[in-house]
Amino acid sequence: MHSLFQPITTLKYVAQKRAALYAKLHITTPYDLLYHLPRHYMDYRNPVTIAEAQHQSIAVLRVRILQKLPPQFIRSGLTVFRAIAEDDTAQITIVLYNSSYAMDALIIGKTYCMSGKIGGNLLRKEIYSPHVIPADSTDLIRPVYPLTTGLTTNMVETNVRQALALLQAEPFEWMPGSLLTQYHLPMLVDALPAIHFPHNLEEMEQARRRLAFDELLQLQIGMRMLRRRSKTETALQMQPVSMQPFYEALPFSLTAGQQKAVSEILEDLCQNVPMNRLLQGDVGSGKTAVAAAACYFAAENGVQSALMAPTEILAGQHYATLQKMLEPLGITVGLLTGSMRAKEKKAVRAAAADGSLMVLVGTHAIFQKDVTFANLALVITDEQHRFGVEQRGQLAEKGNCPHKLVMSATPIPRTLALMIYGDLDLSILKELPSGRKPVETYAVTGKLRERAYGFVRQQLEQGRQAYIVCPMIEEGEVELQAVEQYAEQVQKGAFAQYRVGLLHGKMKAAEKDTVMQAFRDGTLDLLVCTTVVEVGVDVPNATIMMIEDAERFGLSQLHQLRGRVGRGDAQSYCILVTDHVTDACRQRMQIMSRMRDGFQIAEADLQLRGPGDFFGERQHGLPPLKAADMLKDMKLIQETEQAAKQILEEDPDLTQAGHQGLRLEVLRLFVKTGENGVIL
Ligand code: ADP
Ligand code: MG
Repeated sequence: MHSLFQPITTLKYVAQKRAALYAKLHITTPYDLLYHLPRHYMDYRNPVTIAEAQHQSIAVLRVRILQKLPPQFIRSGLTVFRAIAEDDTAQITIVLYNSSYAMDALIIGKTYCMSGKIGGNLLRKEIYSPHVIPADSTDLIRPVYPLTTGLTTNMVETNVRQALALLQAEPFEWMPGSLLTQYHLPMLVDALPAIHFPHNLEEMEQARRRLAFDELLQLQIGMRMLRRRSKTETALQMQPVSMQPFYEALPFSLTAGQQKAVSEILEDLCQNVPMNRLLQGDVGSGKTAVAAAACYFAAENGVQSALMAPTEILAGQHYATLQKMLEPLGITVGLLTGSMRAKEKKAVRAAAADGSLMVLVGTHAIFQKDVTFANLALVITDEQHRFGVEQRGQLAEKGNCPHKLVMSATPIPRTLALMIYGDLDLSILKELPSGRKPVETYAVTGKLRERAYGFVRQQLEQGRQAYIVCPMIEEGEVELQAVEQYAEQVQKGAFAQYRVGLLHGKMKAAEKDTVMQAFRDGTLDLLVCTTVVEVGVDVPNATIMMIEDAERFGLSQLHQLRGRVGRGDAQSYCILVTDHVTDACRQRMQIMSRMRDGFQIAEADLQLRGPGDFFGERQHGLPPLKAADMLKDMKLIQETEQAAKQILEEDPDLTQAGHQGLRLEVLRLFVKTGENGVIL
């Protein structure tokens, strides 16, 4: 075995304790460490002078140490170390917290480059906890790594250098030379050192391109192998039946887009290979009705469907919707969630197992081993990106290769959808049901809160309902208290005559259900809530939403939130409250007021924030990509698509000798998602 794949403890300075810290970052071998890529770089090549360094900015300086001041013990656990340094323009105080080691490392009279946040006063600037390198270092572009408490940049840097030495002592490469040549890619032995310690940005970008190519290629190959496997499977082939009774029972007629999606789905269901289709539609576009149509079709064919939602609230809501649409037509619908009583669960499981239940709606509780179906033929997942690949796989295994339909409001360009969901077919709901008016959106500062409350009250007076959303990003104690207090305060104050409910993620599922049900039934007028209402909740009588601290949400998230109103015919409103009056924030609020199309907003969001949050692991349930950027690397996505095709045509199972390394890498990428057994 190559030394890169030995335990991480084979590196110098890495004993059990540090190994445990690395394990937290999913690093267990020197090879993993080499793929622990810098989050960004500190460029020490162009320092500014102390005089030029801006207050509150992160600045890079080149300074000589003059003097060290005696340490100051502030309290137990906090000692402040200071040193005075200078350049040609001024003096600056270096401030270090609790780090006698870092202070000792500074030598009086010597010149260093350092980067850190600038503060202090008019008379003397300060630089806080700077990262320091000798001014004569030859590596002036330094990596900044994602860390965990107890691990420092210096430790990681040292260990990465050791791992690079192992690589250079015995070059490791899995990519066939022909591919390297064809796509002008550097070898790993060059790319990996360059990604950690680039000498210039071109070198770094070259290296990143190689690593991104690797990831995308592996992903494409893995997804294709998964897909090919499902193509060779046979699924239950359904027979056309009349949809007339279903349409007649619907309280509305389907939009043209919904009709098209339904017919695409029904056509798939009549094939003997499993359907693998993504139904994409902006919030409020009416995906649930399409799902219901598919369940109806399956039930009339005498087979069962399962509909899986990411939260209990959503599962409960889908259950209520499907029940209303299907039970009058004689189709039994059941609900299974984790929080139900054991006895209820047992009854539902029995009905699914003996086939008396035709449609089962639920949360991931549906995956559990004790759930079996008599003849499951259709699996629908709502907001699938919230589930991991592993969970999706589990449900698929329940049936005998069931047809699969995925519903999502996340706007993803087709090429990306292909990568994320495998080679699937796409149905898009472009328009919203007619009669919908765009949600009028306003941004205000906290000073206008009372007026905004007045506006909300006007809606409530007309018999409408309202949401007030408070950010609770960490779901921590403090924020929890803040939300509870907020609800109490408005119940006593601005909304004293109204019935105010509270909904947050830390409540027990049963409590959440009760509150949600009360809001849906109209026995609550105002719901103070956190982002638990973000996905899919549907109460058409709610016409106004106020969002506190709106700057704390991403634009796409605001759009999802706002999508909770404007779901009926009435004019709806969204009031964004923010005291954050920076240009960037103003720009974001303007986008929200102007745009209503989820696609456009997502794009604007990407441009403002970068793709990190948008395409985080949370969004697609795929292995996290480290080097590739799903949105910016369009060209690489195309190149790797072509390469993946070419490789698999030549060697469908990756059994050729030249492809063994690639096979292992694909396995490694997917192993973390638990799908390895399925692919290879
Ligand atoms: P989403 O696509 O966000 O999941 P839903 O399926 O929850 O949207 O539908 C949003 C609302 O629109 C629901 O109240 C639903 O009853 C209603 N709806 C769906 N289709 C139509 C239609 N064709 N005409 C009118 N209302 C519709
Ligand atoms: Mg929905």
